Parts: sequence; structure tokens; C-alpha cells
Amino acid sequence: LFAGPVSFLKSAPDHRYLPEPDAPEVAFAGRSNVGKSSLLNRLTNRVGLARTSNTPGRTQELNFFDVGAPEEGATPVLRLVDMPGYGFAKAPKDMVRKWRHVVNDYLRGRVVLRRALVLIDSRHGIKDVDREIMTMLDKAAVTYHLVLTKADKIKASELAAVTDRTAAEARTHVAAHPKLLVTSSEKDMGIAELRAAILEAIRN
Ligand code: GDP
Repeated sequence: LFAGPVSFLKSAPDHRYLPEPDAPEVAFAGRSNVGKSSLLNRLTNRVGLARTSNTPGRTQELNFFDVGAPEEGATPVLRLVDMPGYGFAKAPKDMVRKWRHVVNDYLRGRVVLRRALVLIDSRHGIKDVDREIMTMLDKAAVTYHLVLTKADKIKASELAAVTDRTAAEARTHVAAHPKLLVTSSEKDMGIAELRAAILEAIRN
């Protein structure tokens, strides 16, 4: 599936602009700079599909990507959703409020949403802003995997420790999937497992 066609479908600033719910969706969430764009690009083998950017302004939209559409405009096998990044130190309060609304409206009302992936930087572990989205997902009853990113950046012993800590905390969240994914876009690590988890989520 991931070796086939992938294309940008559209951006939605809020729930009124969402695409037709005609394909299963898997959504990616994470703090800004967690490595979300890099992971989406690696996952789909497309350089620059999801634009890497650190500017708070353009991260407020939900971006939809069609994967495995037999032809342009046809219904895809899978739709990847790049959710707006969060946790900007300097984000104004009204921006945080808007983020919360846009994300919550999407999570709670999206019948085709099969799973979410919450990206956590291996160097930092779960932060309070991550706990907020995890709790939103728990309440919306959307199952999610925690995905450690940039695993190449820390020593094996540190990675083992953060993996244990993260998995332990996942067990305290009702909608967190027991399978933790450990990845590095840089070193192409855990990408096959990530693809398998996505395929499993959209099966049948
Ligand atoms: P986003 O803001 O979540 O979309 O994060 P980006 O994908 O733009 O990545 C943020 C920064 O982390 C960039 O400088 C990337 O090159 C770097 N980065 C992303 N993934 C990895 C990784 O797996 N390993 C390493 N070493 N750096 C990474």
C-alpha cells in the first residue's frame, strides 16, 4: 500500500471543511518539532509530502493525504491525517483554544477515524501537553498508539528506559493501545512496524 500512489487531498481549518468521510482515516498527533512531518514522509516514501515547518501559523489545520487511490480523485484505501502540532512555548491562548476545538470536533465526530498515533520525542518522554491529547482521545474513544520518535538520538540504555516509562503510562489510559512503537525516520527504524499497525487498524 505504501509503495503505491500518495497525494495531498486538502487542508481543513475546522470541521466544516473536512473531506467526505468515504475512506478509513489514521491521524497523527504530536508536539511541534516531534518529527511528525519526517515520519509521514518516511512512511509514504515521499520527500516533502508533509512539509516540515516550525511556524505555529500553518500548523493549525488538519491536512489529509490519500494513500492507494487507484486513480486521481478516486476513493483511497487509506487517508492519513496530519493533525496540527501543539505545545508551542509561545502559542497565544486563543490559538491553543482553537487547536483544542478543531481537534476535539474532528476526533469526536469522525466515523471513519480508525486510529490515532501520538508521537512522543524519545529524548523528552510524555509531557503534559501530550497527556492532554491522550485524554482527549480516551474521551473520544479513539484507540491510539504511542510512537517514540528520533530513537537514534539517544543511547540504547536511555531508549530502553523511556520505552518502559512510556509503556507504563500508556497502560493508565483506556484508549492507548498496548503496542508502543519505537521509530527513527532518520535511520528507517520501526517504520515497517508502523505500517503494519496502520494496516491492522484499517483492515476490514
Ligand atoms: P514536526 O514539526 O513534528 O513536523 O517535525 P519535523 O519532521 O519537521 O522534525 C523536526 C526536526 O527533527 C527536524 O530538524 C528533523 O530533521 C528532525 N528529525 C525528525 N525525525 C528525526 C529522526 O528520526 N532522527 C533525527 N536524528 N532527527 C529527526
